[in-house]
Amino acid sequence: MTSRDAADSVFSRIIRGEIPCHKVYEDPHCIAILDINPLSDCHTLLIPKEPAATIDELSDDAAAALGRILPRLCRAIKKVTGCSAYNVLQNNGSEAGQSVFHVHFHIIPRFPERGWPIKGKPHPDNGPGLDLSGAWHPGMLTPDSAADLNRQLARLL
Ligand code: 5GP
Repeated sequence: MTSRDAADSVFSRIIRGEIPCHKVYEDPHCIAILDINPLSDCHTLLIPKEPAATIDELSDDAAAALGRILPRLCRAIKKVTGCSAYNVLQNNGSEAGQSVFHVHFHIIPRFPERGWPIKGKPHPDNGPGLDLSGAWHPGMLTPDSAADLNRQLARLL
C-alpha cells in the first residue's frame, strides 16, 4: 500500500466529500468522523488529509497537526460519553489489523460494564469498547538486546 493507494481510500473519498460521514471536526490538515461500525459509543476516527497509507509514510507537518488536535478530541469524547477510560489505537498494515489503508487514529471509549454483543449482531448499546485483557502477552527486554536496538535505532533517528 502506498500514498497513491491512500488517495483512493474510503477516507480520501470522505475528505473530498464524495461519501457522506458524521464529521465531528475539521481543520486544514485533518478531520475527525464517527466510525460507521463503532466498538462503543462515540468511537471516533482522526484522519489526516494527507493521503499516507501508514504512519511511517506521514510527513512531520501532518503528524504535528494530528498531535495538536488529538488530546482536545479525547477530552471532548470523555466529556460527551462520560467514559472514564478510552483507547487510542492506530493500526499499520493488514497483519496489524488495518483495513483502510489511509492513516487514522481510533479513539474508543471503554465501558467495561457493558457485555459483549451476540455474535454476528451489532450491540444494541454499541458495546464495551476494546478489552485488552488476555490480548497482551509480554516478553522480556534483556540488557544486550536493549543496547543493540538502541544502537540501530539511534542511527536512523
Ligand atoms: P482499521 O481496521 O483500518 O484500523 O479501521 C478502519 C475503521 O474504519 C473501522 O473501524 C471501520 O468501521 C471504519 N470505516 C470503514 N469504512 C468507513 C466509512 O465509510 N465510514 C466511516 N465513518 N467509517 C468507516
